[in-house]
Amino acid sequence: MSEISVAGAGMAGLAAAARLRELGRPVVVREKGTRVGGSMLLSSCVVFRHRELDAFRAECPGGDERLQRLVWERLDDAIAWLVARGAPVVWEETGSPRTIGKRFDPRGVVEALAGDVVLGADGRVDGPLVLCTGGFAASAELVTEHIAPAAPLRLRANPWSAGDGLMLGLDRGAALTAGMGDFYGRNMPDAPWDETELVSLSQLYARFARIFDEDGVEFFERDDVSWSESNVVAATARRPGAKAFYVLDETALDERVRDRTVADMVAAAPAESQVALADLPFEPPPGAVAAVRVIASITHTIGGLQVDDRARVLREDGSAIEALWAAGVDAGGVATGGYASGLAQALVLGLVAAEDAART
Ligand SMILES: Cc1cc2nc3c(=O)[nH]c(=O)nc-3n(C[C@H](O)[C@H](O)[C@H](O)COP(=O)(O)OP(=O)(O)OC[C@H]3O[C@@H](n4cnc5c(N)ncnc54)[C@H](O)[C@@H]3O)c2cc1C
Repeated sequence: MSEISVAGAGMAGLAAAARLRELGRPVVVREKGTRVGGSMLLSSCVVFRHRELDAFRAECPGGDERLQRLVWERLDDAIAWLVARGAPVVWEETGSPRTIGKRFDPRGVVEALAGDVVLGADGRVDGPLVLCTGGFAASAELVTEHIAPAAPLRLRANPWSAGDGLMLGLDRGAALTAGMGDFYGRNMPDAPWDETELVSLSQLYARFARIFDEDGVEFFERDDVSWSESNVVAATARRPGAKAFYVLDETALDERVRDRTVADMVAAAPAESQVALADLPFEPPPGAVAAVRVIASITHTIGGLQVDDRARVLREDGSAIEALWAAGVDAGGVATGGYASGLAQALVLGLVAAEDAART
């Protein structure tokens, strides 16, 4: 029985490897970084789906319907599998009326899926291979080529997902999906921060702010901000410096986003990013009481390698490349045009890839 290699030990790679072991297949997991867990370890770890498939389709209209259906239909069982393996649940529900899922403790997920992982190893090896390298957010070069921001984006993710899976797939003749310029991210304070602060410092209140760029152009209406706020982040990436000012009045500061008020989020922003109204490079709007300078920050890419509903990597003509699968962010075309749970995509496609690979 041939050994299956898994490249990357984030959500997709760990799920794929655990499932391969359950199915009795020998597996080697190689992780480029110095630790197991990928961006999943840094995340809020809410694994979710939209309540209705139609809502998922409407939210991500450019996505591949077959893959969206696959993730949507398999997620509840996949979450149950994760729970049965002992992954600790922090919230039984997502806290959003539009989604269903659970919030896990990411360290507990790593432990629940644990198995041997070779650290500091490039997973691009010969033989049957499941690519789970987490996309290309950490490659400034690939981000410039595909996303073309007005200025470099800050990285809000693990530092090793630099497009290795994408490049290997291309070398073997893979096709790319639509939406290579799409990304999921957050507007973060324009100040120094580290990877332990990626959740706590997110400035997730554009829907209550007036949004200006450095030239004083009010470039985005708060009523147009999507529930994930990823559309305003994408728009910010195209403004000078990939930056924006969120300007707030008293009413806005009292608004709540999940368990925090807007005032809490503003207070969490480092002093360097809090701007006195007199220092704004434009006339503050009437009623303004606070302003924060934010920078578009990328969490993960959305376009990637084309896969089918067995997670097999496809060529342009639709044929499957032999013994090559992609899961998680490496597999593109699920959330094109919008935002969906990257962890759900990683978990489901990781399991699907493992089950298909185990049949070979
Ligand atoms: C702050 C933050 C909050 C988030 N919150 C949520 C949330 O609540 N819900 C949600 O659904 N998603 C969330 N996400 C996104 C989620 O973490 C990702 O969608 C998910 O981790 C993707 O899984 P993955 O396995 O594809 O990639 P990752 O989990 O990032 O794993 C990829 C792994 O591949 C490794 N790698 C890269 N190149 C190579 C190579 N050549 N060889 C071997 N290994 C390689 C990397 O080091 C990494 O360990 C969040 C992310 C962040 C950063």
